[in-house]
Parts: sequence; structure tokens; C-alpha cells
Amino acid sequence: MKAKLDAAGYTTTLQSFSTSAGTSYNVIAEWPHGDANHVVMAGSHLDSVSAGPGINDNGSGSAGVLETALAYAASAQTPRNRLRFGFWGAEELGLLGSKYYVNNLPAAERDKIELYLNFDMIASPNPGYFVYDDNPAGNGARDDLVSYFTTTTLATYSNVDRTTSYVQKTLNVLAYKGKTVTVRFLGQEDSSLQTSFVIDDVALTTS
Ligand SMILES: [Zn+2]
Repeated sequence: MKAKLDAAGYTTTLQSFSTSAGTSYNVIAEWPHGDANHVVMAGSHLDSVSAGPGINDNGSGSAGVLETALAYAASAQTPRNRLRFGFWGAEELGLLGSKYYVNNLPAAERDKIELYLNFDMIASPNPGYFVYDDNPAGNGARDDLVSYFTTTTLATYSNVDRTTSYVQKTLNVLAYKGKTVTVRFLGQEDSSLQTSFVIDDVALTTS
């Protein structure tokens, strides 16, 4: 693989790293044209498992990425951005190869990678498409507001099921008659992607 990429004009690097199953390798191939400050990257893992067909997982992904790299080189086009291809070892042991690559890449070099596309089992007849979100905040639970009445959780609000209008919550407080109680609102927020909570009114109705 490295020899084919070398012959096609790629600048290749063979990275070795140790795993519990012995030495494993990454092959990195960079097309030495285009803006080196903006890297577009595609990759796939080279290893397989004995429990499944390696021809698909991940012979298919690695063959597809390799063929794409060779076809691009043969096309004699000049890319605007820098193209880089990664072939990872020991993915099945816990993404060891790609983690090794990222962990040994200086922060300034990591920042230059604008896009990474991963190809795994692309010969599957029943494919799934997944997006790995590099936003650490993600689209999951991020901001929340919990209201408490003494030790009772009255309501929990989150960015996940946010509402743009007011929501009224009512609690029967008869059990607290004659007692001193504390009403408390506790908010947690990720400031990079904020959700606004408005507490408009807290009222006690007597009857
Ligand atoms: Zn795989």
C-alpha cells in the first residue's frame, strides 16, 4: 500500500505503535499540493476481527480510500486544499491507530484539519450513515434548569426539550403546611452554546 502511494506521488509516513497484540501501523499519505493550512482528510481502518468478514470490515473501506487516493493522483488535478489519507491500525482494539496519530500531532497541525471523513464497511448492503460531531457540547443534554421545592424536584428543563413559551408548573404544598420551606432553582450551562431560561413568577395560592 505504501509503495503504491509513493509511486503515485504521495508523501507517505509509516507510523508504528505498540498494542497488546503486538506492533501495529498507520499509513499516512499526503498529496503534496494545495494549501497546507487547510487539510481535507479521509481514512479507514486496516485491521479486522476474526468474528466478522474482514473483506467488508474493513477491506472495503481501505480499498475504497486507497483507490480514491490513486485515482486522484492519476487525475493530475491541483486541489485547493491539502488532501491527506489515513489508514489506521488497531481500530478494533479501541481506535488505537487513529488516537495515536491525533495524540502525536502537534496542536497547530490538528487545527489545520478542516474535515475528516471515515469509511468503514462501505460494501455493506444495509448501510448506515453516521456523523461524529466534534463539538464537545454536542447536540445532547447541555443546559438545564431544575426547580426544587424543599427536597422535591418540581421540574427539570433542558435544551433538549426546550419550549419557546412559558410553562406553568403547579405543586400541592399542603404537606408543608406550617413548615418553613426553600424554593430553589439550579441552572447548569455550557456557555459556548447557551440556552436561556426565564423564571417569571413564583406564587403561592391559598384556599
Ligand atoms: Zn470497521
